[in-house]
Amino acid sequence: MPSFGFVYDERMLEHECGYDPTMAERPERMRLIYERLQNDGLLNDAIKVEAREATDEELLLNHSEELLEQVRALATDEQCEEFCRNKEILWMSPKSDMAARVAAGGCIELVKACLENRVYNGFAIVRPPGHHSYGKVSQGYCVFNNVAIAAKIAVERFGIKRVAVVDFDYHPGNGTYYSLKDDPRFHFTSFHAYHHGAFWPFQREFDYATGPNQLFVPLNASMNTEGDFVSVFHHLVIPVLRQFEPELILISAGFDAGYYDIMLEMGQAVKAHGFAHMSRLLSDICPGRTIAVLEGGYFPANYVEGAAMMVRALKRMSIPELALPERLSGALCSTVWNLLQHHSKEYPHLRETLEKLQQQQATLGLPAFVYGQELFFGEKMRRLYDEVKKANIARTQEWFPILSEEQILNSNSKIKKYIKDYVFTTDHDIPNEEILMKQLVWDERAQCDSFLKSAPFCLLLVNEFNDFVEGRIDHMMICDRRLYKLAKAKGSCEDIRRIDFSI
Ligand SMILES: [Zn+2]
Repeated sequence: MPSFGFVYDERMLEHECGYDPTMAERPERMRLIYERLQNDGLLNDAIKVEAREATDEELLLNHSEELLEQVRALATDEQCEEFCRNKEILWMSPKSDMAARVAAGGCIELVKACLENRVYNGFAIVRPPGHHSYGKVSQGYCVFNNVAIAAKIAVERFGIKRVAVVDFDYHPGNGTYYSLKDDPRFHFTSFHAYHHGAFWPFQREFDYATGPNQLFVPLNASMNTEGDFVSVFHHLVIPVLRQFEPELILISAGFDAGYYDIMLEMGQAVKAHGFAHMSRLLSDICPGRTIAVLEGGYFPANYVEGAAMMVRALKRMSIPELALPERLSGALCSTVWNLLQHHSKEYPHLRETLEKLQQQQATLGLPAFVYGQELFFGEKMRRLYDEVKKANIARTQEWFPILSEEQILNSNSKIKKYIKDYVFTTDHDIPNEEILMKQLVWDERAQCDSFLKSAPFCLLLVNEFNDFVEGRIDHMMICDRRLYKLAKAKGSCEDIRRIDFSI
């Protein structure tokens, strides 16, 4: 059996924001991951696959000539900042073209090595990340879509018939979705913060009701755990992918859904071994042909731990035991029910599960689950972002607040604490059906849990939006109050009013 493969190339460290040193997506991310893997000895017997700059021809499989030309032409920090004034959460540097080409080229070379049986599974430690980018659009820290390009190379150049992409990054893989959605050779799974549409990118299409070749797990509550995520793999991801029968799996490995990443309690709560278990389950479907590609993840103690555990899993080493919860977090429970119902036509296994679950409801004297409980708060938020882009006034700096010393200490100690509890094993039972069925009992407790856990962050997002449009705060992510007011006065921006609830 060949060894595990990886890509790491210091040219990608040169992609660095010259006009805002506080950017969360920074060079140290990939360097710290690489150092951690080395310190753990995980790369000693691994094969380093040399990265190279992707060619125009390769990038054009997924992007427009126009974007390539624009990115290539960026020669100064001023030009870079200007380029980003009609983009969503994007910074660039004069070295970004080169670094983004190395990132995409590295992924292509790793996939190639895997398909030629020179490596067994692998991890591309690359940046800038890619999963928000598509066609002529670079956004969300992403220049070119590394994963989508590698997936297209696999089918176009290597005759692979079916590629599955699984994205467990905190944010939606919207770029990957637009890149792959109309091609039946691809299946795309994405877990992502959704919060009933009140979270970026504020689009209903990232709710659960997708086509058969997408499986979206919109997260409407904060702090879902590794047990919640891995349970969803057992309920949905694994049966769907078993039916799809991929010949290659690409993991969009973002670690920003990790426990105490920079979103703290508003984010998700996946401990590092959760990333390991998800990767192990995927590698069971495509042994040797599962390649992870770095996406997000911003708090060092979280992302180095997540990456190290994921690599252990992909190398088939022992990983920490993970206990599945007795009940799924309420909001996720309702999402799983909706997904089972929505995809049951195309996936007989899901239909069977759904029938058994409704039977369980009846046996417990509970009413049947009612399908399709959808709320969507994002319409005005989307319109505001579109107006800001149209008027060329997107904020290009300081999108996120910086964590305080105290918050950093707290997150570090939370992460250190759970690492102490690891019990490493190579013995992983398949959870029995009874345990999985019980997780999804839809009763008053689950409904209340769903409401209580989803409401606070959703309300915070809606209130923040209302505070911005009504002038109580100066800025909100890419929106600057002063520039927005000026643009409105000139008629280049539509007036967006508050989201009208009496709360
Ligand atoms: Zn992310």
